[in-house]
Amino acid sequence: METKYIFVTGGVVSSLGKGIISSSLARLLLSRGYSVTIQKFDPYINIDPGTLNPYEHGECYVTVDGHEADLDLGHYERFTDIHTTRANNVTTGRIYQSVIDKERRGDYLGKTVQIIPHITDEIKRNVKSLGNTGKFDFVITEIGGTVGDIESTPFLEAVRQLKWELGKNALSIHLTYVPYLKAAKELKTKPTQHSVKQLQAIGIQPDILILRTEKDIPPAMRRKVAQFCNVAPEAVIQSVDASTIYKVPQLMHEQALDNLVLSLTGTESIGEPDHAAWNEYLRKLDAAKETVKIALVGKYVELQDAYKSISESLMHSATYCDRRLELTYVNSEKLSPSDVEEKLSGMNGVIIAPGFGQRGIEGKFTALKWCREHDMPTFGICLGMQCMVIEYARNVLGLEDANSTEMNPSTRHNVIDLMEEQKSVSNLGGTMRLGAYECRLRPGSIPAAAYGRETVSERHRHRFEFNGEYRSRFEEAGLECVGENPDTGLVEIVQAPALTWFVGTQYHPEYQSTVLHPNPLFMSFMKAAIANS
Ligand code: GLN
Repeated sequence: METKYIFVTGGVVSSLGKGIISSSLARLLLSRGYSVTIQKFDPYINIDPGTLNPYEHGECYVTVDGHEADLDLGHYERFTDIHTTRANNVTTGRIYQSVIDKERRGDYLGKTVQIIPHITDEIKRNVKSLGNTGKFDFVITEIGGTVGDIESTPFLEAVRQLKWELGKNALSIHLTYVPYLKAAKELKTKPTQHSVKQLQAIGIQPDILILRTEKDIPPAMRRKVAQFCNVAPEAVIQSVDASTIYKVPQLMHEQALDNLVLSLTGTESIGEPDHAAWNEYLRKLDAAKETVKIALVGKYVELQDAYKSISESLMHSATYCDRRLELTYVNSEKLSPSDVEEKLSGMNGVIIAPGFGQRGIEGKFTALKWCREHDMPTFGICLGMQCMVIEYARNVLGLEDANSTEMNPSTRHNVIDLMEEQKSVSNLGGTMRLGAYECRLRPGSIPAAAYGRETVSERHRHRFEFNGEYRSRFEEAGLECVGENPDTGLVEIVQAPALTWFVGTQYHPEYQSTVLHPNPLFMSFMKAAIANS
């Protein structure tokens, strides 16, 4: 079939969950047998979010091909089980960079380079390049930001042009907010009407409206919205707050969003959706009564989007183990030997979070020492794994000033150090060790048992590495290097076999855990945590 393009825009306020709606629609289309991909346009000038801190942008997600991406791509993968790539997340910066490169090459020789048509053409090229791969029946493109923002205007102009060019093969879904005014005891649709007017002024007539709301919107009110906004009454859909984002596909299906998309794009239905596996996950999520208590030790405690993929991975594995996840964020900046016992002793398992820089690092060592001495199931991820190595070096190997050269460039025991190829790097953007790498597992180790395979592929995002010169000293002292890169010999996983579950991965397993396929290492950690209750 010809590729269909679906554009998802948002109005009234940000954070309405365009990513969740896009992911849910993709889930529904996939479960009916279509091939789907989701793409996000971010209207900021950064080339990618790799140099933004989590306060600005939440977690930075990493794709298999090593692109540092918006956290919505994590939702896309968790909902769809389909790998995203660099082509699935494009910023204004990338669009301009590419146009400027072309201008310097002389591709526009003689012409004035302008937002229309050059920037909009480049945006359109990025949308269509996914469809042109021939791999997808549907390309869902989410436009970041809110209608009316100056920054997103060129993207909306490109959508207007594409809708015109593609006719029935393009569809516009607009997500808005219907606030409930407590004092008046009323839901209000006026902001939605204004937002649609704004979209229409740009030249885009939405085909489907999705109204985000805390309370049910009565049918008469939806008909009124339809009438004011030139949309069919059945194309006004509500998205009521759900207890979990993973229920949104079902809520959309109940209102026939998938049918609507098929009929509006003239797509032949190829059968009813199969939701069995998805619904089984939801059933387990609702049925779980007993809790499992996990602590996540990191510095961004007040900002839970910073560890989005980790908390979702924990949720997936807890659910498949029939437990309700009780996740406590422990501030590594405030953790000290005097209160570590109080904060961690009631836990079933501890995660030591990834991160950058010195802030909060001492608390991670304190947590790790306590966990090691109390045989607490402990999972160190990236910087968490590096801290595991440093703490072990200091307190077991007796190398008192052991450190990472990230924290102390002149340490005498650089057990974590910059890789040779990183030493000459001067640009910080997009130059870390990024994306999927193979890892060979030592037979008999916890990871080998967890994955049930000899070699796995997981995603990385870091500059520093375990220093191979210290390898045999760690092995002899009981911290074994049980995962290594088959090409370079770099140490990717450490484990203390004398302890029940004490594992650190240089890679980020959380980038590869989905609702239908929870990450095996998180499953293994979760089982150990449950056994520790
Ligand atoms: N700061 C560490 C490094 O660059 C770890 C990065 C991370 O945890 N993602 O190697």
